[in-house]
Amino acid sequence: MYLVKTPAIAKQLFCDYLWDIPTNEKVLYFTFDDGPIPDVTTMVLDILNDFSAKATFFCVGENVERNPKIYQRILDDGHTVGNHTFNHLNGWKTPKDVYLNNVAKCSKLVNSKLFRPPYGKITREQASFIKPDYKIVMWDILCGDFDQKVSSKDCFARMKKHAKPGSIIVLHDSVKTKNCVQAALPETLAFFLEQGYRFDALSPSI
Ligand SMILES: [Zn+2]
Repeated sequence: MYLVKTPAIAKQLFCDYLWDIPTNEKVLYFTFDDGPIPDVTTMVLDILNDFSAKATFFCVGENVERNPKIYQRILDDGHTVGNHTFNHLNGWKTPKDVYLNNVAKCSKLVNSKLFRPPYGKITREQASFIKPDYKIVMWDILCGDFDQKVSSKDCFARMKKHAKPGSIIVLHDSVKTKNCVQAALPETLAFFLEQGYRFDALSPSI
């Protein structure tokens, strides 16, 4: 169970997390979680290049360790990165110290002040320890690319329906989501470009 569009009440309750970027400008912030992964992250980078789009990649430390060249290409292509823990831990199921150590381990490979908790699951206590060092980045739109019951057409339709100036949109550069992203991303970028939007990376120093 997940919500495609983050409700305003959640944003208000957790107002110290970043859910979107307040702006009237036609700009969208695409974020890609869980890479870098061979053939998938590189495919995403190729698509972004085709549209001169910038994005932010929330990287899993162990994947950066395995795929350092792809990680470097993300930076070389002008995108930004964020910390997504070393082992993609679920905060609700992980003791505080284990969680914080895993974030610190990832930070040795991923140089960024941005942090996104895997699954969006982090306890208030864990967050209180992370906040002094990071901006905790959530999202405005979760289009369901990871959901086997959702087609790429549905993903595109969800982004088309819900995106507004300053939206932070989550997609994944993972093996599971490759086909969906491959189909939905170019279509989405083309649509919003046509509407006068640009695609920026989140600042890594927020
Ligand atoms: Zn993740």
